[in-house]
Amino acid sequence: MHIAVVGAGLAGVTAARALHEGGHAVQLFDKSRGVGGRMSTRRTSWTPDAQREHALAFDHGAPSFTATDPAFAGFIQDAATFGWVAPWAPRMAPASRAETATRWVANPDMPALCRRLAGELPLHRSATVTGLARVAGGGWQVLVDQVAHPGTFDRVVLAMPPAQAAALLQAHAPTWAMAAREVAMTPCWTVMAVFHQAAPEWDAAAPSTGPIAWAARQGSQPGRDAPDNDDNTATASDTQNWVIQASAAWSAQHLEDDAATVSAALLQAFQALPGLAAAEVQWQTSHRWRYSVPRNAPWAGECTAWTDDALGLGVCGDWLGGVGVEGAWLSAQALADAWCDADPAAPGHCHPSPAMFEAA
Ligand SMILES: Cc1cc2nc3c(=O)[nH]c(=O)nc-3n(C[C@H](O)[C@H](O)[C@H](O)COP(=O)(O)OP(=O)(O)OC[C@H]3O[C@@H](n4cnc5c(N)ncnc54)[C@H](O)[C@@H]3O)c2cc1C
Repeated sequence: MHIAVVGAGLAGVTAARALHEGGHAVQLFDKSRGVGGRMSTRRTSWTPDAQREHALAFDHGAPSFTATDPAFAGFIQDAATFGWVAPWAPRMAPASRAETATRWVANPDMPALCRRLAGELPLHRSATVTGLARVAGGGWQVLVDQVAHPGTFDRVVLAMPPAQAAALLQAHAPTWAMAAREVAMTPCWTVMAVFHQAAPEWDAAAPSTGPIAWAARQGSQPGRDAPDNDDNTATASDTQNWVIQASAAWSAQHLEDDAATVSAALLQAFQALPGLAAAEVQWQTSHRWRYSVPRNAPWAGECTAWTDDALGLGVCGDWLGGVGVEGAWLSAQALADAWCDADPAAPGHCHPSPAMFEAA
């Protein structure tokens, strides 16, 4: 079958890779310039004076992930043997939330895992899918920026956050669209900053109170350039790059605040963490994620991917598979297993009916 996969985050590339290996001809579409979606690294530069320009990289989406499901853990162990991912055990700040599971990061940046999985699969970048059109006799045309992409597809996979999926589902599967709209995503304000004299004796903080949920020293993750993605004019104890992420509650409360106000509040909270009294901000920018992680995943485990074989439509993503990177992978695998094995009883795979959504 010819299958269009819309969205090249982890769910999209995982589904595309598995469908390709199952013998299908796959094409990926993503509105961004690259793959990775919310497994994202911001690359930019800072020019402190006319002589120096520092390249900067910040893992400003998912900073790391855990692997608890046996199938995902097996995949991650395999990926680690190829050097695609690595475990990360940051030194945690005093009074951080206790965490026991191993943290993993993609290597050498967060989108790298998606780049590896996408490999040489056909990928249409900067291609915003604005609609799907049924073709007489069956199949689909994909509309990119309102224009029909050449060729037709037997099936389409939507691998994107629920609000974006709902917009494309509305005309063809209104019950699914309605159910997708019910899934709330939490926002996350994120500040990326370069500090002078910010060298506490820890690499990451997960405060249990206050506006900050997570802060991490960039470059403390395995595989990143040292010191701190910086050139050799600065040492790790001199200039340090940090990502600071606000809690879901704080981000929701300040969602429409201007970026300057948000940055000031989060930087002040960061400088109040142990060992950072002398930290001086040299450069900073911020990003507002409207959709960071699903607040809930009501169908995880039971209906981890949605498929309608007659219509030729499938949906996957973290909001179906469970919260986070692991959920995105599990959802995509369930979809691909169903379409490769054609086994209606495949775990996690189901044909959701309106009754199921009413029950949820
Ligand atoms: C700030 C932040 C912190 C996070 N922290 C963690 C964490 O600690 N642990 C963890 O496990 N997870 C975390 N996550 C969540 C994790 O990143 C996601 O669960 C996972 O990456 C979702 O993958 P996905 O493929 O389902 O969706 P996405 O990564 O969102 O991919 C969807 C893709 O679809 C594309 N797209 C959307 N609409 C269209 C369209 N119309 N046409 C074409 N392309 C389209 C987008 O460009 C995107 O590339 C975090 C995320 C954020 C943002």
